[in-house]
Amino acid sequence: MPSDLIIFTDLDGTLLDHHSYSYAAAQSALSRVVKESFPLVLSSSKTAAEMAALARELPASPAALIVENGAGVVWSGEDTATGGRHGALMEALARVTPELRALFEGFADLGPEGVARLTGLPPAEAALASRRDWSEPGIWRGSEEARAAFLAELAAQGVTARQGGRFLTLSFGADKADRMKEVADRIAPTAHVLALGDAPNDIGMLEAADTGIIIANPHGAGIPPLPGEETGRIRRAGEGPAGWNAAVLAFIDELTSANRQA
Ligand SMILES: [Mg+2]
Repeated sequence: MPSDLIIFTDLDGTLLDHHSYSYAAAQSALSRVVKESFPLVLSSSKTAAEMAALARELPASPAALIVENGAGVVWSGEDTATGGRHGALMEALARVTPELRALFEGFADLGPEGVARLTGLPPAEAALASRRDWSEPGIWRGSEEARAAFLAELAAQGVTARQGGRFLTLSFGADKADRMKEVADRIAPTAHVLALGDAPNDIGMLEAADTGIIIANPHGAGIPPLPGEETGRIRRAGEGPAGWNAAVLAFIDELTSANRQA
């Protein structure tokens, strides 16, 4: 039987508590997801290596992982490295004019110790964050003009760049919203798509879903009012995993009673 619902969720500040990184408060909704056999897809800026332990531990075994902010997908049962394009990305970087290349200090240049120093992550976590399969974050150390020239040389090789708060991240494109569509089309093409997120990098996913749920995050940038909010296609929920829990349980009830009436 095809599933009625597929759930895409961000991790930090959404399914995981902003401070403790625990999903404990979402336990009852996760059990319901398991009971109903709805596919759950984790979608995060984290690497596959960073998400692996959580994916193993969650009561609802994820159907896929959207990793590195949508730069890649890891399908359930697949080796994390399958289909990764980090090697090709590093080759593209190596073809850039050396003077420009030298101004970009990527995670691969920094090494796990350098990443730990830069991010403040404990060494073991920095090592997992350094295991890139699809994208290369780094620090730009040159002028705006040189940055434009650097990005133009990469663009000619199909590489796109996204400037975050701190890192300039290079990849072969795709974001969380693109990957959500790809995953839904492959594993649950007729299902209602529910997406949950708490931050600006989740907006595309929330807008592209059949229903988007904004999880409150008073610790972060938050999400400005979105067009779908007037119609109820996009809704707001409480903070972190407790907000996730209430919103997902309410949504499943709503969907189940609508299906019963249909
Ligand atoms: Mg988040």
